[in-house]
Amino acid sequence: MAPSIPQGVGGPRKRSADFDGRLMHIFCDFDGTITRCDTTDYVLSRLARPEWEEVEAEWTAGRITAAACMRRQVGMIQGSDDELHAALDSVELDPGFLAFVAWCEAEDIPITIVSDGVRQFIDRILARHGLQHLPVVANQLAGSAGRRRLEQPWMREGCAAGSGVCKCAVAAQETPKGRNTMVFIGDGRSDFCVSGRADILFAKSKLAEYAASRGKMFVPFDTFDDVTVALADLAEDRRVRAARAQAL
Ligand SMILES: [Mg+2]
Ligand SMILES: [Zn+2]
Repeated sequence: MAPSIPQGVGGPRKRSADFDGRLMHIFCDFDGTITRCDTTDYVLSRLARPEWEEVEAEWTAGRITAAACMRRQVGMIQGSDDELHAALDSVELDPGFLAFVAWCEAEDIPITIVSDGVRQFIDRILARHGLQHLPVVANQLAGSAGRRRLEQPWMREGCAAGSGVCKCAVAAQETPKGRNTMVFIGDGRSDFCVSGRADILFAKSKLAEYAASRGKMFVPFDTFDDVTVALADLAEDRRVRAARAQAL
């Protein structure tokens, strides 16, 4: 798949001439986007009491918020720190993510990871791939083995996603100065609230369905290779136009 920008329901909102890497800032979901699996669910499946799935079902049925669901589930994680680390060390990244980060760094486009997962889980997985320098906004693990709990400093009353981390609040506060083109990359429910604010939205699975149902334009993707190709096309477009303008 070679996506072009922009596409999806509703046609182009901006001409590609309006997209400039120098103005871009990328916010990116973690679980199911940077990783292929959901890290928290995977840790729960290995280390939590089986009731974690009942809590999950309550969230799926809409009886509790995602934020409450995560708090209760993290409290169910058993096992030592070593066992937790062993579980995290088997989580793999999207096959195109390292190349994507390298491309963004070469183009000087900042990336912030914004996740409704657990910060310490994400940090460990990123560090294993040499990506510990990427900024991460997520829930915080507190307590200790056998008495773990979750802190949610980024929760916001009225968040459309009901998340522990309100991603639209993060996007509003964490955008670097002078970066007015917001690129968002995600896959799931925790991305719903922020997706409407994105200038360029890359979406798959539930987020793609949601965006389509709302008439929000998005670029479908499968792996980060698709995202890199689409953004590189944009950068190339701009360079060609700039060269032409100079030649005139
Ligand atoms: Mg996700
Ligand atoms: Zn929100």
